[in-house]
Amino acid sequence: MKTLKGIAASPDIVIGKAYVLDSEEMVIPQRVIKESMIPKEITRFQDALTETRAEIQKIRDKISKEISKEHGDIFNAHLMVLEDRAIIEEVMERVKKEKQNAEYIFSQVLRKYVQSFLKIDDEYLRERVSDINDVGRRVIRHLVGDRRASLSEIKEKVILVAYDLAPSDTAVMHRKNVIGFATDIGGRTSHTAIMAKSLEIPAVVGLENATRQIRTGDTIVVDGIQGNVAINPTAGELQKFRQDHARHIEFNRSLKRFRDLPCVTTDGHRVELAANIEFPEETPSVLSHGADGIGLYRSEFLYMNRVDLPSEEEQYQAYKKVVTAMAPKSVIIRTFDLGGDKFLSHLEMPHEMNPFLGWRAIRFCLASPEIFKTQLRAILRASAHGKLRMMYPMISGVAEVKEANKLLEEAKSELRAKKTAFDEKIEVGAMIEIPSAALTCDILAEEVDFFSVGTNDLIQYALAVDRINERIAYLYEPAHPAVLRLLQTIIEAGHSKKIWVGICGEMSGDPIFTPVLLGLGMDEISTSPVMVPEIKKIVRSLSYEEARQIAKYVMTLRAGTEVVNFLKLKYQQILRSSK
Ligand code: PEP
Ligand code: MG
Repeated sequence: MKTLKGIAASPDIVIGKAYVLDSEEMVIPQRVIKESMIPKEITRFQDALTETRAEIQKIRDKISKEISKEHGDIFNAHLMVLEDRAIIEEVMERVKKEKQNAEYIFSQVLRKYVQSFLKIDDEYLRERVSDINDVGRRVIRHLVGDRRASLSEIKEKVILVAYDLAPSDTAVMHRKNVIGFATDIGGRTSHTAIMAKSLEIPAVVGLENATRQIRTGDTIVVDGIQGNVAINPTAGELQKFRQDHARHIEFNRSLKRFRDLPCVTTDGHRVELAANIEFPEETPSVLSHGADGIGLYRSEFLYMNRVDLPSEEEQYQAYKKVVTAMAPKSVIIRTFDLGGDKFLSHLEMPHEMNPFLGWRAIRFCLASPEIFKTQLRAILRASAHGKLRMMYPMISGVAEVKEANKLLEEAKSELRAKKTAFDEKIEVGAMIEIPSAALTCDILAEEVDFFSVGTNDLIQYALAVDRINERIAYLYEPAHPAVLRLLQTIIEAGHSKKIWVGICGEMSGDPIFTPVLLGLGMDEISTSPVMVPEIKKIVRSLSYEEARQIAKYVMTLRAGTEVVNFLKLKYQQILRSSK
């Protein structure tokens, strides 16, 4: 059995057949074609070349106009690849001779060229390799169509193995048939990992080369607890995985009794334990896991996979569905957070060198006030149906909060003018996920009713560690003293200004951190629905005083590893004593 090591992203174990998406993010089908269809296949190939040529010319002209002619000219090298007679003729000849579909033959021919170029030690030729790959991808995309089509057509139960899965992919795939994920890239807080957890699908991310090591049809085991993927295990090995799985199910069953109990320490300190969702359909799971409310509804998922933007009415209906289902429990809608690793196909967002540092979230919303106000009106209208709160993502300073609140006031006035009902006292919060916001929380607190700490981003910005880059995942340390100090600063600033502070990043779902979060004074913890019972069990096993002592001690430690080692021991002790 071959085992690949990755990052545990969604805690469960699944055994199944692999379905591998090409590592270049496309499925390249292989088909035998009839003799009579050969001319049509060749025309299809020529059409794809023509379409790709037009596409590249368009990009070249745009870049020449918007940046410089020299930058635009780079694309002439791409056009030359398309004119390469040797490649084109070899493809046409092989389609005729081997009677297979054009995209498959084309990908084979390109691979051969790329391999022979890579063997030659010449800078110029090596650069041509990336041109060839780029152009090849475009041609294949024209031949294959959108890969999302193939994801929605998966007919049997499979484990998806991919280079990466965009949120838009996960949204269209046939959820009943995808029983696990394994991806080459990604970290614990990448959106693939978050989606897997929210869909309750076992997942391992950051495997580096799963798409090269695993073939479609292989039997694989995705162990989302340990972060391993086993390829073609023996019967004995499978038996062992089945036992691990049974133990996991038993552990979860033992947590069921916490469902209807309050999230309160042994000495009566109450914490709000909420859940994070991406889709309105997850609301039943939030309730069945015993959460007190929804602490983060990532509203941008409503915008994925569409050719147009959802109207105010459509958004209102979606938000109302969640608020009504949860009432009287509270729901926090996070306004539109696009950019970073969440993109829309229909909004022309420019390609950026550093998307996580770029035109994201509130920055995009403030620059697109009509899109933003449409959402704000929809949220306000939904607030008439239950307990709704809202918060702004990626706040970096007070000016953004003021500007967002100004637009919110405009949205309220528009509704009042139409006599549309909404909650006049709706609570508004700021997500604290940028160090500049964390360090100015005392100032921000004057403009909002609460803070919710987005540790997924806060950690990446504080430690300069890209949250989806598996190579540096070892540096992505929630327990880093810098992160813990930021948390302490945020909580103290919020409390000194009499506002409550919550946490909704993935750190909140790691039970080893629960005592520290509690002890630092976090008022609300929001995590994936699946993690709610275990977090509740930890809170209910501790006194507030014990948690404060743990936090106090942890704040004296000098390195993340020391913190983690100490907290793991504590966690084991708590579990043992709470049996
Ligand atoms: C976060 O950054 O912690 C967060 C909750 O937001 P997202 O993961 O959607 O960026
Ligand atoms: Mg974030």
